Amino acid sequence: MRYRFGPFVADSGSRHVSRADESQFSLHGKQAELLLYLIEHRNGVVTRHELLEALWKAHTTPASLDTAIARLRHALGDVASRPKYIQNAWGEGYRFVADVEESGHIHAPEEPGSAAAQPRANGNQETARVSRGPAFWRVAACCVVVAAIAGVAYWALKPHGPPELLKLEGNYLVAMNGRGQELWRHHMQGGFSEEVYHSPGWQGRLSWIGDLDGNGGAEVIFAFTPEMQIEQRPSLMCFEPSGRMRWQYAPNRVVRDMAGRTMYPPYNLGAGVVVIAGQKPGETRIAAAFVHYFNQPGLIAFLDSRGNVTGEYWHPGHLLYLAQADVDGDGRNELLAGGVNNGEHAATLVALDPARTTGLTTPTEMKDQTFRLLGMAEAREKAVVIFPRSCVSKGSAYTRLVELRVTPHRIVSVAAEDFKTAPAAITYQFDHHLNLTDAEPLKEFSERHRELEKSGELDHQFDSQKEMADLKARLVVRRSD
Ligand SMILES: [Zn+2]
Repeated sequence: MRYRFGPFVADSGSRHVSRADESQFSLHGKQAELLLYLIEHRNGVVTRHELLEALWKAHTTPASLDTAIARLRHALGDVASRPKYIQNAWGEGYRFVADVEESGHIHAPEEPGSAAAQPRANGNQETARVSRGPAFWRVAACCVVVAAIAGVAYWALKPHGPPELLKLEGNYLVAMNGRGQELWRHHMQGGFSEEVYHSPGWQGRLSWIGDLDGNGGAEVIFAFTPEMQIEQRPSLMCFEPSGRMRWQYAPNRVVRDMAGRTMYPPYNLGAGVVVIAGQKPGETRIAAAFVHYFNQPGLIAFLDSRGNVTGEYWHPGHLLYLAQADVDGDGRNELLAGGVNNGEHAATLVALDPARTTGLTTPTEMKDQTFRLLGMAEAREKAVVIFPRSCVSKGSAYTRLVELRVTPHRIVSVAAEDFKTAPAAITYQFDHHLNLTDAEPLKEFSERHRELEKSGELDHQFDSQKEMADLKARLVVRRSD
């Protein structure tokens, strides 16, 4: 059955609500179920108890129902004080009040004598509707039973379970369960950036699936970079377990630095997203790394599960690698972000406590103050590592981290001393409290050193032990309490 009301069409077969003109609008999952239930029971008031039982099997709170109704109204452009569609029946429940035009039919056997065909066989519909004799009520009762069985079968066959995998299909983000069945899809304005999503590894870095609020359902966080950035900016998105978008965030700040550069949005989001669990669900934070699309600043934005920005850490240089570890041993992970600090002209690694990275902050201590960002409070990082520059980096303006990962006992970071495809790099290993345990050159580093010796750009022979000992001694770790 298709129910048409206002500009909308609700389809009881596909359990989907769209706009009659097929423009950008779509409701699935619980929202569509809620709306269909109200429409199908529009001859009277539907009580709150009935909705909770029918749609949530009572596994939710009345407050969640209020939220669901509020979201549904918002999606339909309805307002509670002047309802076009959903009216409050005070103290009782809700009533669907719009005019509904029905079309299509329930697929039922048409043979004479069958339940569905009986009203016609008895005469005509007019008679059945007017007289409502015993036959009508028997048929009605049968229909209710058939509908109930169909409903149960529908719920049993419908793909369910939490999303485990995302798929990009055309311009749709598709969430699938562990058996590869589609749970929901969302149209993404502007399509997907080929450059960002071409490698299959994007999923671990640019998305996160799990229970953000501790209520049992799995949310999806997706770092979205559109192909057509003229239509939409790169943004962080959060989807409800039903597939409805809960919130979307894109930084919009204009930033200035000491050298007089003024940097306008947009900011890219290729670096990634990390979710850091709190002691309580409300303390969980989503951290995302944005970088200015061509100029120096980088941003680590912290958001709560409702999409409120709880902290902005602006950095003089791009931080492109994210990980997490409990650096201070308080039982909660810090965010680790690696990249370059332009003010130090060197590779850096910062550890940020999600709970105390609040407001608008930036590092202020750096050798080259021309890169300092203006108009922000001084940042309070848990720790800042500034990697020493080696002799091989002489010809490079900067060094930078090109890898960051956390193993059960180590934080492993790779600092590139030049900007070649296979950079001359050094692997630094720390324990989880950021105490340096080891520094080791990659083979490209020793090769580059020898090339520079030959060309006369270096005046000494490569002595791995001596040079690593020197770098370890010059590595700086600044900590705050
Ligand atoms: Zn050297």
